[in-house]
Amino acid sequence: MNLLLPFGRAFGIPINLHYSLSLIVPFLAWRLANDFFPTRYEGWTQISYWLTGFVAVGALFVSILLHELAHSLVARLRGYTVDEITLFVLGGVSSITSETRRAQDEFIISVVGPLTSLGLGLVFWVFYSVTSQTNHPIAALIFYLALINIVLTVFNILPAFPLDGGRVLRSAIWALTGSFVRATNISTRISQVIGTVLVLIGVLEVSQGFILQGVWTGVIGVFVYISATRIRREEPI
Ligand SMILES: [Zn+2]
Repeated sequence: MNLLLPFGRAFGIPINLHYSLSLIVPFLAWRLANDFFPTRYEGWTQISYWLTGFVAVGALFVSILLHELAHSLVARLRGYTVDEITLFVLGGVSSITSETRRAQDEFIISVVGPLTSLGLGLVFWVFYSVTSQTNHPIAALIFYLALINIVLTVFNILPAFPLDGGRVLRSAIWALTGSFVRATNISTRISQVIGTVLVLIGVLEVSQGFILQGVWTGVIGVFVYISATRIRREEPI
């Protein structure tokens, strides 16, 4: 079953939307329209909260797309083939043909994604510093984009597969040991530990009454654990 919807091309790279987005986009817009924006910006109409919520989610996925394009364009510059970019419920993924052949390539291709998110976060933060006293939806959008891009940066530098931090960690161990196999072995084991810790944190959050937050942390933990295990099996160890 094909769960991807072709959405166009950027720099010749096909962009796909996964159907899981049809669930997460309304959910995030609902959270923003009923919680995030009303607690910080008072007195808007209900329609304004919802419209700003949907525009914010759209801008979030544009931010993720820019992050993925950074990975893809740098990979292409270094001689790799980029098949497609897919946006899905937990973010984005760039499909780059063939494993990177050098530690230096894996490092630079991985690190440009978080750097792009950080750059976006800082640019929006500068705009936010001059609009922070305003109660207008545009000011709220700027605040949200500053915040979410910083969150994306921090999340992606977590040293666990399949996040960028996991790849940066592997490239560093690879450069130090000279062995791709050993680097994969060590970094996937660290990722499995981090995935397990995230699941435990999720359980703790649920037990403390933070149910949505806990479920989300747990889902990410399971996703990290499964991805690390898959990468561990695929690589010839
Ligand atoms: Zn990335």
